Amino acid sequence: MQGAPAGGLGPGLPAVDTRTLLVCSFLLAAAWGQMNFTGDQVLRVLAKDEMQLRLLRELEGLKPQKVDFWRGPARPSLPVDMRVPFSALRDVKGYLESHGLSYSVMIKDIQVLLDQEREAMARSRRLERSASSFSYSSYHTLEEIYNWIDSFVTEHADIVSKIQIGHSFENRSILVLKFSTGGGSERQAVWIDTGIHSREWITHATGIWTAKQIVSEYGKDRVLTNLLDTMDIFLEIVSNPDGFAFTHSMNRLWRKNRSSQPGVPCIGVDLNRNWRSGFGGNGSNDNPCSETYRGPYPQSEPEVSAVVNFITAHGNIKALISIHSYSQMLMYPYGHSLEPVSDQEELHNLAKRAVQALYKVHGIKYIYGSISTTLYVASGITVDWAYDSGIKYCFSFELRDTGRYGFLLPATQIVPTAEEMWMAIRTILKHILRHPY
Ligand SMILES: [Zn+2]
Repeated sequence: MQGAPAGGLGPGLPAVDTRTLLVCSFLLAAAWGQMNFTGDQVLRVLAKDEMQLRLLRELEGLKPQKVDFWRGPARPSLPVDMRVPFSALRDVKGYLESHGLSYSVMIKDIQVLLDQEREAMARSRRLERSASSFSYSSYHTLEEIYNWIDSFVTEHADIVSKIQIGHSFENRSILVLKFSTGGGSERQAVWIDTGIHSREWITHATGIWTAKQIVSEYGKDRVLTNLLDTMDIFLEIVSNPDGFAFTHSMNRLWRKNRSSQPGVPCIGVDLNRNWRSGFGGNGSNDNPCSETYRGPYPQSEPEVSAVVNFITAHGNIKALISIHSYSQMLMYPYGHSLEPVSDQEELHNLAKRAVQALYKVHGIKYIYGSISTTLYVASGITVDWAYDSGIKYCFSFELRDTGRYGFLLPATQIVPTAEEMWMAIRTILKHILRHPY
């Protein structure tokens, strides 16, 4: 099924009209008011022990909410990063100081980075228009990505097609790219998704670069060629289209989807807490106003159920790789339990080799291990569901960086981030080919 991109401009409009429309929509966005983060800071706290972590967790429950965790309180060895609005800075810093929690300022003024990001996008958009080309080293809006998908599948129709697997809460198309050299619909396959958390822009950009890499390396790279000669690859680039559109129109730092329920004061479900496996356990929240709100029941969200239905109906997915940012990690299940999975040893050794291959590209270090022991306990997540559904090779990335820019990674780092991640994925693909099951 082919789906029309949401919010696309009608075909056949003369260029001047398109430009006028774009200018109008820009002015409207400005008039509606993008959220402004002037003076907001990202603070990094290094908790010494469990008690200090508990003090940090108490900040999450404050009403009205005073902090937005970018890296939540997990274990004493991991830093905690939190965005603190300008209006709450004095209180929060006072709280930290009075409890003996030492902190440093990672980002002094978030709006400065946001302005730089917008300017870079506008500059790149002008160049793309004048050269009629797509820049793989820039961030793009949902509409730009969906337009790129259309021209990409047209250009590489021999190997790529577009599948609409469902609709988002706000009725946008949920699209998946299928890379296939034939062999029927039951061929074994690899699933990769990016952008389930909408503010993690580096992941969508990396997904786009990866799509281009797959078509350009087929026939050249031995591993990829062997893989595509026997298996398909599915790539979902915008896994949370409503949230992503909202990061462009209103709030760059939005994480959840945009679903609402009658009588519930807050919007959005954390799509990486909504899966059936371990639903409602530790590391998820039943408060709809929380950034990790799990939703009313398992797979309640259309963005999650579309993927569940697609993967279940396909029935022959052999690997699932779910891409997030930031922290520079490569992890495998479980998230919801500290218990090792039955394939722990194989997944651990494979993760180790994958991060070694990644390191060789640009000298960037990723840590690896199970999600619950490396990052934190998180329940109702994609890779746990996939593993419990019989997919043995399940991995989750946290891409660059480790907090200098956090979710606001400059576009100059898109290509290097994607290049190194590709070598890790290639290592995983090579292993899958050699170890069929
Ligand atoms: Zn994420």
